[in-house]
Amino acid sequence: MYVIFFGPPGVGKGTQAAIVAERTGWAHISTGDMLRAHVRDGTDLGHKAKAFMNKGLLVPDDLVIDMFMARLAEIGDRGFVLDGFPRTLAQARALDAALARGGGAIDLAINITAPDSVLVERMMGRAAESGRADDTPEAIRVRIEVQKPSAELLDHYRRAGKLKDVDGRPAVPQVTEAIMAALGVAGVSPQSPR
Ligand code: AMP
Repeated sequence: MYVIFFGPPGVGKGTQAAIVAERTGWAHISTGDMLRAHVRDGTDLGHKAKAFMNKGLLVPDDLVIDMFMARLAEIGDRGFVLDGFPRTLAQARALDAALARGGGAIDLAINITAPDSVLVERMMGRAAESGRADDTPEAIRVRIEVQKPSAELLDHYRRAGKLKDVDGRPAVPQVTEAIMAALGVAGVSPQSPR
């Protein structure tokens, strides 16, 4: 299956995407992880992306789309879980077009949700653990507002009948089960084909 995970910061999107990829054998593509690796490795793309990332802004579409398409071409005939891509309508359209060229399409977009108050509380907890004292509730609220998936992006998949909401408030294993149920793949064996 070709699946997208949407959700605001702090909702557990990256955690769930990694678990679902592990359980299904599908590729886990996190554009945030890929960009951080480019920054760490000091690549040309890393230098360009860094300024945007440090300000909490989105990296321009052309840079992210090129990077993503190269990764997509590598995964071959496997399913995938997308984590952090698409972030804009332009990215969603580029993704649709690329999949259509291979006769495919996104099967499902999982939108993991939680009230802002829960997200702020979780992110304050994380900030305290990692010693990031500059993470005030106000700064966190701004980050949530800027980084949450846009209504037009969610609508793109809702209109196609492909968006399912999953409550991100319960403990990690319960959220995983709700996602697996939404995917209709409970008990799928690792490495199973699409
Ligand atoms: P994430 O780990 O998904 O929160 O991504 C970390 C940062 O990388 C974001 O705040 C953006 O600056 C950048 N980024 C990740 N994915 C994308 C994307 N699809 N489009 C634009 N910027 C992105």
